[in-house]
Amino acid sequence: MSASRNIVILGSTGSIGVSTLDVIARHRAGFKVIALSAHRRIEVLFGQCAEFEPQYAVVGDARSAEQLAARLHAAGSSTEVLCGEQALERIAALPQADTVMAAIVGIAGLRATLAAVQAGKRVLLANKEALVSAGPVFMSAVRSGGVTLIPVDSEHNAVFQVLPAGYSGDTTAAGVRRILLTASGGPFRDMPLERLAYVTPEQACAHPNWVMGRKISVDSATMMNKGLEIIEAHWLFNAAEERIKVVVHPESVIHSLVEYVDGSVLAQLGNPDMRTPIAFALGFPQRIEAGVDFLDLAALGKLSFSEPDHVRFPCLRLAREALRAGDNAPAVLNAANEAAVSAFLASQLRFDQIPVLIEHALGEIAVAKMHNLEDVFSADRRARDCAEMWLKRNAVVAVRHPQRVAARQAARRSLP
Ligand code: NAD
Ligand code: MG
Repeated sequence: MSASRNIVILGSTGSIGVSTLDVIARHRAGFKVIALSAHRRIEVLFGQCAEFEPQYAVVGDARSAEQLAARLHAAGSSTEVLCGEQALERIAALPQADTVMAAIVGIAGLRATLAAVQAGKRVLLANKEALVSAGPVFMSAVRSGGVTLIPVDSEHNAVFQVLPAGYSGDTTAAGVRRILLTASGGPFRDMPLERLAYVTPEQACAHPNWVMGRKISVDSATMMNKGLEIIEAHWLFNAAEERIKVVVHPESVIHSLVEYVDGSVLAQLGNPDMRTPIAFALGFPQRIEAGVDFLDLAALGKLSFSEPDHVRFPCLRLAREALRAGDNAPAVLNAANEAAVSAFLASQLRFDQIPVLIEHALGEIAVAKMHNLEDVFSADRRARDCAEMWLKRNAVVAVRHPQRVAARQAARRSLP
């Protein structure tokens, strides 16, 4: 790296946060870690503070803050420990930081990520839910602050890499016909449909190609992850919904493609390892080493592609419908999905009920304008309340006794 960068990592103990520190550790002279944050994994955060000596560490609650501060103090560390959401916003906007890695999962990261944008930081965006929920509000802050926003999500990072340098957000002027997002299809791509009702959180979190946090792993299994990524691509690249296509590519070697009007299709390839897009974002516009194995095309032999199965993955349709409906619909989609995924992970909802719950919330909550952050959180709250009521009425019995429910449904179907 030619000049040193001062970086804040929001969500440093997660999968993306840990990979970010792994890349930074390979370039000690290029980066100074100013602040780190974790929600609950205090042990991991303690180790990161000992290694990278940030000025600040932020945790979710006062008790965790006390514990971490005591341990750091005993170890002779000068890291100051803060807690709560306002502290996250504070570290995202620190004057001594120039770059913020936004790697908190879910809408929980929105305020801090937006604070980084509003403070004019260079924002490396992994936290897709922030952009999906608050699209117009988020992008207007990016534009008015002239902020450099670099996508970390592997597909969007790939698209960013193969769009013309200095792409202005005008697909027509750039000669872009379509953006092709690749999708692995997740762990249940070939599972018989009737078994989807009985899959466990452990099965859903065992992704064939990527090691990720639990929420995004479930999203990949339902393909809501690709749905959220269609919305993310819409905002990042100013592309109309019908210009964003999904292609199933189980090997996860091509991370996405851009199709141009002259028939050229440009792609970014690499082994499925998030350290590649993270290193790209950290070093941009310079390329830096990421610790990733290089691709051996001859050993791979062949790559395969197919159309997504919309019957198996209704979440893709729901995300497209929410994007077309516009305004607060993507925020409702995101919140209902977050509620559904956490209920599934807590064994309070069956896997195949996730899209049912989301569709219910989208049907219940009228589309309304979104002018500011409060409108985003209002849509988010309403969707979560709606999901909670639905869960009380529908879900628990079906999870505890899936066979009994299936038998009852079959009996009902066979009634004259
Ligand atoms: P993770 O669950 O492994 O880590 C999440 C991080 O956020 C942790 O540091 C956790 O402490 C913090 N966090 C969780 N809840 C919080 C809260 N309420 N308040 C403050 N902090 C909180 O998740 P991940 O897989 O690293 O994903 C992070 C983000 O990056 C997600 O938005 C995900 O969609 C996106 N992303 C991840 C990958 C991947 O390979 N893991 C790839 C592309 C995009
Ligand atoms: Mg992705």
